[in-house]
Amino acid sequence: MEYKADIGVFGGSGFYSFLEDIEEIRVDTPYGAPSDKISIAAVEGKRVAFLPRHGRDHRLPPHMINYRANVYAMKKLGVTRIIGPCAAGSLQPHVKPGDFVVCDQFVNRTWGRRDTFYDGPITTHIGAAEPYCPEMRELAIKCAKKLDLPVHERGTVVVVQGPRFSTKAESREFSGHGWEVINMTQYPEAILARELEICYVNISLITDYDVGLEGNPDIEPVSHEAVIKVFNENIGNLRKLLIEIIKEIRVDKRDCICSEALKTARL
Ligand SMILES: [Zn+2]
Repeated sequence: MEYKADIGVFGGSGFYSFLEDIEEIRVDTPYGAPSDKISIAAVEGKRVAFLPRHGRDHRLPPHMINYRANVYAMKKLGVTRIIGPCAAGSLQPHVKPGDFVVCDQFVNRTWGRRDTFYDGPITTHIGAAEPYCPEMRELAIKCAKKLDLPVHERGTVVVVQGPRFSTKAESREFSGHGWEVINMTQYPEAILARELEICYVNISLITDYDVGLEGNPDIEPVSHEAVIKVFNENIGNLRKLLIEIIKEIRVDKRDCICSEALKTARL
C-alpha cells in the first residue's frame, strides 16, 4: 500500500469524527478488519489517520475490539505516532471530571484479549517498563499547559475487562494501590503499538469518579450516560489539544525508546 499517514488517532466513546475534508479508506490486515473505515486528512501540514476504536456507531464494546487489526492498520498506512485519547474514570479525589491525565503506566486487569503480534515461531519479549512514549508524553503535557487545560503529568491507568463498571470493592482495591485512572481500552492498544515500534501516548479525559467517592454520598457511581455527558462537555478541549499536539510533532525525527523496541526484544 502506498504511504498514507504519519500520525494516527484512535477516537474513544463519544468521539467518532475528528477530521474534515477526509478520504475514507478500508484497510485489510492479517489480523482481520479494523473497527471501521479509516479517515485520512491533512492537519497542520501532516497526514493524519483517524479510527474510532469502537466503530462509528459504537457497535464494538471494549472486549470485542480487534486491537491488533486497528494498530496494524495504522502501521500499514505508515503511521509512526499514535495518539490514543479515551474517556476514563478517576480513582482519586484530586483527579476531577474534566481533567486530562497523560498516563505513564498501566496495570492490565483484562483477560482473553489478543495482546501480541508475536505468537511464534519468532519469540519476542519487548520491554514494557515505560509503556508510553516519553517524547510524546512530554509533548502532550507541554501542549495541554500551553492551552491552559487542567492536566495531570502522570498517572497509572488500571484497565478492566468491562463491559460492566467496577464494584465498590474492586474500586477500593484500585484506589488503595494509588492508581489514578480506570478504563477499558488502554490494554492492549498501547503495548501493541510498542510491538510495532509506533510511539503511543494516552490522553485520558476524566468523566466520572468510578463508584463514587468514599464519604461523599452526593457523588453518584458512574453510568454510561454520565460518561457521554461529561465527555461531550469537554470534547472541544480534547480536539484543541489533539490539533496542538499534531502541530508540534516532528514527523521526520524520533529519538525515543519506541523506535528501537525490537532491537533488544528477540531471544
Ligand atoms: Zn516514542
